[in-house]
Amino acid sequence: MNHKQALEHNIFKVISQSAKELNLDSYVIGGFVRDFILQRGSAKDIDVVTVGDGIKLAKQVAKNLPNKPKVQVFKTYGTAMLRYDDIEIEFVGARKESYDENSRNPAVENGTLEDDQNRRDFTINALALNLNEDEFGNLLDPFGGIQDLENKIIRTPLDPDITYSDDPLRMMRAIRFATQLGFRIEDESLNAITRNSHRIEIITKERIIVELNKILESDKPSIGFLLLEKTGLLPYILPELMALKGIDEVEGQRHKDNFYHTLEVVDNIAENTDNLWLRWAALLHDIGKAPTKKFSKKVGWTFHGHEFEGSKMVYRLFKRLKMPLNDKMKFVQKMVFMSSRPIVLAQDIVTDSAVRRLIFDAGDFVEDLMTLCEADITTKNPKKFQKYHNNFKIVRQKIVEVEERDHVRNFQPPISGEEIMETFNLKPSKEIGIIKETIKEAILEGEIPNEYEAAYNLMLQKGEKLGLIAINK
Ligand code: ATP
Ligand code: MG
Repeated sequence: MNHKQALEHNIFKVISQSAKELNLDSYVIGGFVRDFILQRGSAKDIDVVTVGDGIKLAKQVAKNLPNKPKVQVFKTYGTAMLRYDDIEIEFVGARKESYDENSRNPAVENGTLEDDQNRRDFTINALALNLNEDEFGNLLDPFGGIQDLENKIIRTPLDPDITYSDDPLRMMRAIRFATQLGFRIEDESLNAITRNSHRIEIITKERIIVELNKILESDKPSIGFLLLEKTGLLPYILPELMALKGIDEVEGQRHKDNFYHTLEVVDNIAENTDNLWLRWAALLHDIGKAPTKKFSKKVGWTFHGHEFEGSKMVYRLFKRLKMPLNDKMKFVQKMVFMSSRPIVLAQDIVTDSAVRRLIFDAGDFVEDLMTLCEADITTKNPKKFQKYHNNFKIVRQKIVEVEERDHVRNFQPPISGEEIMETFNLKPSKEIGIIKETIKEAILEGEIPNEYEAAYNLMLQKGEKLGLIAINK
């Protein structure tokens, strides 16, 4: 098979020519070839293997390119990278690897193209296109990768037990590719992952998170989380999610399985947002339910305060997984903390003041919160499903109306503390707080508009009630 069309970009001619000048063989390998055959849109990162010195080839290519790009050399890995026309091209010399028990970093020696293909994680990632002039575009597929692409199968070129044990990150990659591509992991591989799941402990959290994020960014993230659970990887990574699995029954009363519910929510939200952090919020929105679960004869199963508990757990989870403890984390916390708020609205008659409070508390994240809560509707009762969605439509409409009229998003009190102090000749004292709170409440309840005059008058009234005397009307 020849795949010249994959190599239309002039960069490939330049690489081919440069390799020839150095008397080297070179190939494009891995993800670029896979994604071209799957027609997943042209990849922006290209891996080039040469039988010889990859760094030397990179430098030659840079010299031959019109803009003479800078070559970034990673000496420890023997690789080099350059950017050209928005594409990142990585060069490496073909290598043979041997692994040590305690590390995913192998001992490396120079090898042939076949050696190099042998060290690739999956058959579909071992595909290579020849860049040598007389065989330009010829496909090298030693392990039946094309067949596996057609059959949508994830399979390792060598013994899967060795492949996964050598570099346990591959277990995450297998599940990530299965999720991204909608492929099946073949049974032998799946069993090997299950057997080797404990080996994930030698992988850094940062690398695990890269893969986890890619799973979450897929069209149907549940595929990945179900596989993580099935193979026994999930408890090492997200025990908080594991803890949601299962249904308890006491005196004939059952609660829903919050693990499967959560996965449904994540799939739902994936249809409505590409925001990774909002997807994280969906994944974690119920984690507080495990530690707060209680049964009482009177009311059955409850999860009181699970939103607050959950938001605290978000911090600990992000910290453990070495994720950013910045505004992204705070956003996820806030979403988890508020995740039940709009639901109450959807079940009831939607009042203006309830909507106003929601906007006040959620601020700029109110739309994201609505997206989360709509995804949370997983009821199998079509009547309820319809009713909740209709109510959410009303809530969304009201959010727009109320916001236009009352401007409570990023609420700034119309009367400042200073003005209250001046009016009543007060030093800092608790009365100021009481008056401010009264004004805020009145605005949120819709008793007065969010305007200076009305707020000023209310301040005078409330001050009088508190026995204060206005000196400065
Ligand atoms: P994507 O870029 O979409 O994440 P990719 O397959 O290109 O997918 P990269 O991480 O860019 O993944 O790696 C490029 C190639 O290097 C892969 O196609 C594969 O051949 C090889 N590779 C990457 N990581 C591993 C690994 N842990 N074990 C073996 N081979 C790997
Ligand atoms: Mg890649």
